[in-house]
Amino acid sequence: MQQASAHSESLYRDTTQVTLAAAPPLDGSHRVDVCVVGGGVTGCSAALHLAERGYRVKLLEARQIGWGASGRSGGHVLPGLGVGMDLVKRELGLKTAQQIWEMTREAVDLTEDRIQRHAIPCDWKSGYVHAAITRRHVRGYREWIEEMAHDYGYDELHWLEGEAFRAHVNSGYYVGGVHEPAGRHFHPLNYTLGLARAAQEAGVELHEETPVSAIEHGDPVCVRTPTATVEANFLVLGCNAYLEELDPGLRSKIMPVGNYMIATEPLTAAQVAATLPQDDAVADANFVLDYYKLSGDKRLVYGGQVSYNGREPPRLRQRMEAKIAHLFPALRTARIDYTWGGWVGITLNRFPHFGRRHGNVYFAHGYSGQGMALAGLAGRLVAEAISGQAERFDLFARMRHRDFPGGRLLRTPLLVLATTFYRLRDLI
Ligand SMILES: Cc1cc2nc3c(=O)[nH]c(=O)nc-3n(C[C@H](O)[C@H](O)[C@H](O)COP(=O)(O)OP(=O)(O)OC[C@H]3O[C@@H](n4cnc5c(N)ncnc54)[C@H](O)[C@@H]3O)c2cc1C
Repeated sequence: MQQASAHSESLYRDTTQVTLAAAPPLDGSHRVDVCVVGGGVTGCSAALHLAERGYRVKLLEARQIGWGASGRSGGHVLPGLGVGMDLVKRELGLKTAQQIWEMTREAVDLTEDRIQRHAIPCDWKSGYVHAAITRRHVRGYREWIEEMAHDYGYDELHWLEGEAFRAHVNSGYYVGGVHEPAGRHFHPLNYTLGLARAAQEAGVELHEETPVSAIEHGDPVCVRTPTATVEANFLVLGCNAYLEELDPGLRSKIMPVGNYMIATEPLTAAQVAATLPQDDAVADANFVLDYYKLSGDKRLVYGGQVSYNGREPPRLRQRMEAKIAHLFPALRTARIDYTWGGWVGITLNRFPHFGRRHGNVYFAHGYSGQGMALAGLAGRLVAEAISGQAERFDLFARMRHRDFPGGRLLRTPLLVLATTFYRLRDLI
């Protein structure tokens, strides 16, 4: 499959502030306790937690640390999942849903804890707004506020409209929204590199430009790259939407969806006041949603277009530019300095897919657009499970996942069809 837009254009690559120790490509034969594949947040977090528990760990990354979704994302950090808690309650019962909800809150705290403990420079900021465009969104948000307070004791969601709303999101496009002070945002690549640096300091050996081409299951499990083999007691797969054919059994449960972002030039103080005066991050309630925030140097970093076939949508930059001008007329003349994209790994029900295979292979992926905090928690839970405390990992792994319908050839057209239905519903 073709890759989404080149990484080199990303604002984040150009504003990297974290330098790793050497992470050379791997040659030869090696033996470790745990081999981790994938240098995003899932892999780096798992490696760090495992090393802190005393395991000898090697992490193999096909390109560079943070090259995947973790280094390209919107950098929005929220409690919760890529699907509403109502699905979790229906499938797993209220008690498990409450435990999972609490763990998603832990995921945000863990992110903050890592940033502080390892002094990661990543523009960590508070404040989030979920914006409503239609009356149907308003009804949905009001029900959500009640559900979260009643079932989960979460009373940090506050309805805003009129001037109170515009004090956070200075746009006439919305009818109101929910303010969530516990929502955060940051520079995702610096955070991912910061986790990787902390992992190196804890003893993890990182190897970039080291693509794993095959897995031989057994005890030990053996992974092969073009120039090396690594035997390990345990294998952790943190490849998410970039898994490709490395494990075909897992591939049918997650679908890569292209998601795209642009960043403007740094805004003036007047432009900031006319957009996001309190520096919140924002997402709207549409099925294919728009989401944005200000970067550390006050650029508007906006995401909002998707692609299901690996090709960049036509006139991507112009369409996103027009959308920004529509939301915030004060940005009509703002220059667009960066355009980039990456793969989001979604599951059919949008609940993340955690599990183990062959007894000693752990995986966590399919965060369905909400993985910046969850992937860090996944790393912690994988490390707990490998250490023999699997209860919390298994709460997530209990969710049953179905294959995307249509097999290899038809699953993309069927997903496009389903998405078209939800997009039309968003117009109501
Ligand atoms: C444009 C965009 C915007 C997003 N915005 C947000 C957001 O605002 N908030 C949020 O919570 N989530 C967001 N997400 C989703 C979030 O980025 C992901 O859920 C999260 O980063 C997943 O982390 P990961 O480590 O599991 O995967 P990734 O970061 O994708 O890392 C997987 C890594 O595995 C490597 N790899 C794959 N195969 C192999 C192999 N065979 N050998 C070696 N290495 C391999 C890849 O090179 C890659 O570096 C966004 C995603 C995108 C693409």
